Amino acid sequence: MQKRITIVGAGIVGIATACYLRRDGHEVTVVDMSPPGEYCSFGNAGILSPGSCVPLATPGILFKVPGYLADPLGPLTLRWSYLPKALPWLLRFVAASNITRVERIADALRALLVQTFDAYAPLVKHAGVEDLIRRTGYVAVYGTRRAYEGDALAWKLRRDRGVVMDELDAAGIKRHVPELPGNYEVGLYLHDHGYVANPERLTKSLAAQLQRDGGTILQRKVIDIELGPDGPRALATDAGSIPVETLVICAGAHSNEFSRRFGDDVPLEAERGYHVTVSDPRFKLSLPVMVPEHKLFVTPMEMGLRIAGQSEFAGIDAEPDYGRADVLARLMQRMFPGISTADATQWMGRRPSMPDSLPVIGPSSKVANVYYAFGHGHVGLCGGAPTGRIISDLIAGREPGLDIRPYSPGRF
Ligand SMILES: Cc1cc2nc3c(=O)[nH]c(=O)nc-3n(C[C@H](O)[C@H](O)[C@H](O)COP(=O)(O)OP(=O)(O)OC[C@H]3O[C@@H](n4cnc5c(N)ncnc54)[C@H](O)[C@@H]3O)c2cc1C
Repeated sequence: MQKRITIVGAGIVGIATACYLRRDGHEVTVVDMSPPGEYCSFGNAGILSPGSCVPLATPGILFKVPGYLADPLGPLTLRWSYLPKALPWLLRFVAASNITRVERIADALRALLVQTFDAYAPLVKHAGVEDLIRRTGYVAVYGTRRAYEGDALAWKLRRDRGVVMDELDAAGIKRHVPELPGNYEVGLYLHDHGYVANPERLTKSLAAQLQRDGGTILQRKVIDIELGPDGPRALATDAGSIPVETLVICAGAHSNEFSRRFGDDVPLEAERGYHVTVSDPRFKLSLPVMVPEHKLFVTPMEMGLRIAGQSEFAGIDAEPDYGRADVLARLMQRMFPGISTADATQWMGRRPSMPDSLPVIGPSSKVANVYYAFGHGHVGLCGGAPTGRIISDLIAGREPGLDIRPYSPGRF
């Protein structure tokens, strides 16, 4: 049965969801305060990683954090004034790090992300942007074997779930990435992985196709949701009220402002990350490079070479600290000596992160005709199209092909 469906949020998750719902013939309206793809989905590292099944919190994380915080080039920062607010989330994060939970989370992440190429394929084909999806694999590099062995659990979790990878020595790394100087001792080549050459263009192209297919995109800020006895009745926006029947919340790091309204007070944090993009690095990598020790990726985007990473807990509204982007620029210079970052662009984005690294996907536990699709943290680009397909299955009453209980809003 065709429905009138309103989606809050035009990031990759909201737009992919809208595309899948429109394919089912529903009347679809997307409401966002910004044009499509200009919030967190704008500047990510572009990685499509069906094997990204390792949560951020793994056994021993508590002992690693002081080292990360003390290292000026480290991947993690916390504004101390924000600690009291972040504490409940951080406690849940640590609680999710025991091995039994980690194994279960890894199963649920793998079940979602393994679908990424298959779920994007019909969308990019229909929008005429198949060129954006590059199935190159990627390489992870370590300075020392000791550092690699310190990450053994992360690679075991992937291998146990069927992720195919080749171990590389220094010569093997050089074969895949001749541009890297020889100071990496061990690496891995991950098959069946890839990247999006321009994440902003992906979201905008899918959004443009949605409009050509009869979908509507409204640029409005949603201020409140009016509830009736049978579910949501209207969105109050900065430009008037919009009547709604079925609602999907895809508002990224802002989603719990809405889910709270429906009684689902999920622990969602804006985990801020940064990028630096060099438009003319004077060389071209053939595939992305991951540096696990610094939790970053370097990706050959169509607009230049991008380094992206960093986890900053400072609150959703705090001003960016571009000192974190400078750290990425320094790490890029260390990887590729001689590269000039003088003309580079910098960006900060807010990952919608849950303490257990799993998104929230599925119906509201309390209010009829409300669905959630948010909280994808570090893997929202990869998880965008699979999530859209799952939401369209749920709304159509089709079996989504995976167990959605791990993504329930009521799991905390
Ligand atoms: C540095 C960095 C690197 C990353 N690298 C990768 C990667 O390589 N691979 C990967 O898969 N993921 C990556 N990610 C994560 C990924 O970018 C996010 O998970 C993803 O973009 C989230 O998409 P979204 O649609 O949920 O949210 P968003 O893109 O943030 O979209 C949410 C939308 O909701 C709108 N909105 C919010 N509140 C309101 C309101 N009140 N009214 C109207 N509209 C509203 C916003 O304007 C926004 O457009 C990275 C993130 C960062 C920061």
